[in-house]
Amino acid sequence: MVRPTLHCAKALQLTLAVIKPDAVAHPLIMKALHQRILESNFIIVRRKDLKWRRQDSERFYAEHSGRFFYQRLVEFMSSGPMRAYILAREDAIAHWRELMGPTKVYRARYTSPDTIRAQYGLTDTRNTTHGSDSVESAHREIAFFFPEFQIEDWMKKEEPCFRTGQ
Ligand code: GDP
Ligand code: MG
Repeated sequence: MVRPTLHCAKALQLTLAVIKPDAVAHPLIMKALHQRILESNFIIVRRKDLKWRRQDSERFYAEHSGRFFYQRLVEFMSSGPMRAYILAREDAIAHWRELMGPTKVYRARYTSPDTIRAQYGLTDTRNTTHGSDSVESAHREIAFFFPEFQIEDWMKKEEPCFRTGQ
């Protein structure tokens, strides 16, 4: 039997996207963000609603411990429910970060008014969304939010284009 050769026009990539508690508190914003994800040609691979304990927040943001905003950040991220997505498309990491806009809301409003953080962000801490910043952090963060999700298995079984992607 001849197996068909798969041609992947563009290699797909996974990223972790999180809607933070400030946006989850507003159903209309949640709806708008979900729509934005779909319109931006992402495949929603997994979705999960969850709430962090303080220690989850501390562990996830350990790289920022000692920064002046750390306590504020940890408290905020464990203050209410969040929605996490595993998203896929080509260059998913860069595309999602571009869609989010700059970390700081005032900068986002000034430089990229069409971005999520510019439109919905409240403060530099309450900036609406999280996105992975590299392939390595995407894998680590997906495992943090979705420990049951086997990235390697999924890439092999569900999406052959991933083999060339990462
Ligand atoms: P991100 O990758 O764009 O989310 O930015 P970082 O990884 O640098 O920071 C993680 C999170 O910490 C940000 O999304 C903000 O919620 C918060 N944060 C980062 N920098 C600042 C800051 O200068 N001030 C405050 N208040 N919060 C910050
Ligand atoms: Mg970051």
